[in-house]
Amino acid sequence: MKAIVIGGGVIGASIAYRMSEAGADVTLVEAGRVGGGTSSTSYAWVNACEKLTSRAYFELNWAGVRSHRRLAEEFEGANWLHRPGVVQWQDAGAEAAGFDEGDFDKFERLTEWGYPAERIDRQTLGELEPDVDLDTFSEEGALYYPEDGWLDGPVYAGAMVLAARRRFGLKLVQGKVTELLTRNGAAVGVQLASGETIEADVVVNSSGRWANEAVGNDDYELPLAPTVGLIAYTVSCDTSLRHGLRTPLVNCRPDGAGRILLRANDIDKTVPADSDPVPSHPAAQQLLQRVKKLMPTLERVHVEAVRTAIRPIPKDGYSAIGPHPALSNYYVTVTHSGVTLAAFIGEGVTAELVHGRSVPEFAEFRLSRFF
Ligand SMILES: Cc1cc2nc3c(=O)[nH]c(=O)nc-3n(C[C@H](O)[C@H](O)[C@H](O)COP(=O)(O)OP(=O)(O)OC[C@H]3O[C@@H](n4cnc5c(N)ncnc54)[C@H](O)[C@@H]3O)c2cc1C
Repeated sequence: MKAIVIGGGVIGASIAYRMSEAGADVTLVEAGRVGGGTSSTSYAWVNACEKLTSRAYFELNWAGVRSHRRLAEEFEGANWLHRPGVVQWQDAGAEAAGFDEGDFDKFERLTEWGYPAERIDRQTLGELEPDVDLDTFSEEGALYYPEDGWLDGPVYAGAMVLAARRRFGLKLVQGKVTELLTRNGAAVGVQLASGETIEADVVVNSSGRWANEAVGNDDYELPLAPTVGLIAYTVSCDTSLRHGLRTPLVNCRPDGAGRILLRANDIDKTVPADSDPVPSHPAAQQLLQRVKKLMPTLERVHVEAVRTAIRPIPKDGYSAIGPHPALSNYYVTVTHSGVTLAAFIGEGVTAELVHGRSVPEFAEFRLSRFF
């Protein structure tokens, strides 16, 4: 089978790796840098504990979490998946899971659905994270996800592409897809901005938030509801922060070499899509003030860099994974939570396209619901 994968983000790179491994002749077309799209501007928490609004969505993400763990074990020296654990203040839990506070016991739901979680008190938090001001801690305590962590998206995507090129002959083409080539109701290849065309038996569109632009045809457009995300990075500092912290003030986690990555949902809502991602950005400064409240030891720390991104979110908020109902041999993967799902989508798309085996976890997330 000859396949084209459009987009070398965490998802396209995973698909390119798994399909090549399974014997397909794969060409990955990337317009910019591998891993340089939304995957480079992500909180990148690999989890299913924030995906509780539907059992099917939880199971999809839980499969994603486990797939990353398996994949990292397949690679000697895998350096992209970090799993020191994540702490979530109890009063950030219900809101983040999409429920009204009070109606919902997140710990009970997670335990029932088999997700590793523990309740922790002030004292344990103080032991886990000595720099945190315990007065910011929720009265109700916190949930601790001891097996959770995050992924370095560009490092992961790069490792997948490199391994696929070296081991299985993946072709990486630097270029921008401007049009899907079709014949008799089926995709047959892509046209690049350079004028070059590439033919294949199947085209997989993994260009994320750019998925509609890449195919250049309204008939195949997927309805999207993109939102803006802003991430601020502190200077390297002497912090003792080790875990991911999901607090009502700010979400933060280590980002290597003493840098701390900061973001917050409510602040994201105030960020215009076209704003300049500079350290003086008001949203970045607000994040900084909040993290200093959380960890007063950061008093002398400042923001060194800011990035903004548009989340690739299908209109109903859930993943869109599967064959396009209006065109044969054309398969699409557009999703938020893409970091969590990447490795599993790689496995699943390969099962469906190369082995002809339908993936039950994808069943509720087909594109047909939009067409
Ligand atoms: C602020 C923020 C926080 C997030 N937090 C989390 C989180 O905690 N956990 C989680 O799981 N997810 C999170 N996400 C979502 C996650 O980052 C995305 O779902 C994921 O990165 C999407 O990956 P992708 O491979 O689909 O897209 P991308 O990484 O955007 O990759 C698409 C690639 O396609 C290329 N491309 C585009 N157009 C073309 C074209 N015409 N031709 C060729 N190539 C093209 C781009 O250059 C890009 O490299 C977050 C996102 C944001 C913005």
